[in-house]
Amino acid sequence: MNPTMKALYDLQQVDTKIGRLRKDHASLDTGARTKQELEEARSELARDQEALKKASASLKDTELELQGVESKKKELEKNLYGGKVRNPKELTTIEQEIESLKHRQDRLEEIILEHMESVEKAKAAAAQKEAVASAKEKEHRETVANYQKETGRMRGVLQQLSAERARRVATLDAEALRRYEAMKAKSGDLAVAAATDNTCEGCRMAQSAAVMRHLKQGDAYIACQNCGRYLYFEEEGASD
Ligand SMILES: [Zn+2]
Repeated sequence: MNPTMKALYDLQQVDTKIGRLRKDHASLDTGARTKQELEEARSELARDQEALKKASASLKDTELELQGVESKKKELEKNLYGGKVRNPKELTTIEQEIESLKHRQDRLEEIILEHMESVEKAKAAAAQKEAVASAKEKEHRETVANYQKETGRMRGVLQQLSAERARRVATLDAEALRRYEAMKAKSGDLAVAAATDNTCEGCRMAQSAAVMRHLKQGDAYIACQNCGRYLYFEEEGASD
């Protein structure tokens, strides 16, 4: 076991943890998807509420028109039976008008029933959309809360790891650190790989007896024959 390689290997463990943590954080659900779904649910709800408003207004309009027809009819009936109008021709005209108003009244009553049905349907649709929107809102709130909680937790762990990294870096000489950083940059963040069971941890390639001999005698910067990463070797039971 080479002390410099041991120190670099320990630094690598910290960096691997930091890398994993950053990746875990990047894969957290930020709530962007639930936010979009919530917005869609809200706009669908608004659309259905608008349709309900329109249906209710149509119903109201028709009811008012019916009231107008009914009072007009009553007025004409008063004229017809009140004895004020005596001219037969005029009376016939009034009778015809009353008849026509009766038809209109029947038609309006039919239309009112149709509108009532539309209002009921629109109400049910809006209520359903409201339930969807409120469920989405809850889901979004929980997703964001979880994201914030996890982010806070990860930030705490990252601070600890960063402090540990700084402590480890402080013990290394500039040359070792330079070599480590350069290897890390070109080897997918893994600069130092353990050579366990004569195999490189980084690429899973078996190492030759010559490489293992160098490692066992404590040589520094022995590279994997396949991926080129620095190998770290520790005799079994020698771990700290
Ligand atoms: Zn390798």
